[in-house]
Amino acid sequence: MTATEQLRAMSEEHSAHNYHPLPIVVADAEGAWLTDVEGRRYLDMLAAYSAVNFGHRNPRLVAAAQRQLERVTLVSRAFDHDQFGPFVTELAALCGKDMVLPMNSGAEAVETALKTARKWGYEVKGVPAGEASIITFEGNFHGRTTTIVSFSTDPDAKDSYGPYTPGFRTVPYGDVDALKAAMDASTVGVLIEPIQGEAGVNVPPSGFLRAVRELCSANGTLMIADEIQSGLGRTGTTFAVEHEDVVPDVYILGKALGGGIMPVSAVVADADVLGVFKPGQHGSTFGGNPLACAIGREVIAMLKTGEYQERSRALGAHLHDRLGRLPSDLVREVRGRGLWAGVELHGRARPVSERLMELGVLAKETHETTLRLAPPLVVGKDELDWALDQLEAALKG
Ligand SMILES: *Cc1c(COP(=O)(O)O)cnc(C)c1O
Repeated sequence: MTATEQLRAMSEEHSAHNYHPLPIVVADAEGAWLTDVEGRRYLDMLAAYSAVNFGHRNPRLVAAAQRQLERVTLVSRAFDHDQFGPFVTELAALCGKDMVLPMNSGAEAVETALKTARKWGYEVKGVPAGEASIITFEGNFHGRTTTIVSFSTDPDAKDSYGPYTPGFRTVPYGDVDALKAAMDASTVGVLIEPIQGEAGVNVPPSGFLRAVRELCSANGTLMIADEIQSGLGRTGTTFAVEHEDVVPDVYILGKALGGGIMPVSAVVADADVLGVFKPGQHGSTFGGNPLACAIGREVIAMLKTGEYQERSRALGAHLHDRLGRLPSDLVREVRGRGLWAGVELHGRARPVSERLMELGVLAKETHETTLRLAPPLVVGKDELDWALDQLEAALKG
């Protein structure tokens, strides 16, 4: 048995089968490249669903983490620490908002935003107790908690987890009239992915995010942008809402905020929104810990230069230009922005991701027929071109 077979067998036998990973076992990584336990190298065209936007073991991020590891890593929010104030100040500034509520995973940050919207709805907007509603969109992906899967429209994500949390209304993504019809005096928030990642990199029709913004403003409702996957440089701008010059009331951030090193998430909004929380009303033992804040601060500093956004813009244009030239008998449609693409195939995407793996490129199908491409933003143009050559070969079978 090879090392790969041995390790895969252990995973198969003792890990719950809630994922269907490609049959590769990673041993180390650097930049856009992964090396498996057999010493084979692969170009990472997934980047942990955008959590590794800055590349594997980015030297600046590793150095920031190492400096902090030598000082203090966890105190809980019972005590303040010297990375916390600077982190929340710098992240608030990056978002153009007043306040930050740090958490760990993306799902926790989404939960925090939902609690924020409800509490704000009752205490500021004046919605009668127990009546708050939040609007979400078909095809959404916001995480895996029982409340979040309550408004999922994906049977795999939702089925057998009831009873479900009430208080959500779901409308088609991109449908302004349906959104308008679903809004009323009880609506405290509209939770939206500016581009739906998990659903297959679905870009909404032009003008939709603006329309959502206008409807939310007219109705006195919070526009809550889940930028966990779309934000922090992925689409060629710091936030994907910038493509329509939209400023949401609430940003939800995660994934790349932890620099590919650890889970770091946050909800960011103005004081009239996040100010609803008083001591004891929400929290997290690990949220805003010193190590997370030190890494998050370095991520923010790297984003402030604009170089990653610029790379995503320039290389993303090249990526979409090349994908757009793939023959239509191989590819049905290509969606996305920046270094982010959903390649819609005529048949199943799994065999293509398996062939790609054999060719030294790691990408992953999402749902049945979509291949999602999201390389680290540090990928080189030659590397990207090489990966696209392999994709063409894999598509041709
Ligand atoms: C990944 C993701 C989440 C959930 O983040 P976790 O860290 O896996 O809990 C939520 N929203 C979006 C848009 C995501 O892509």
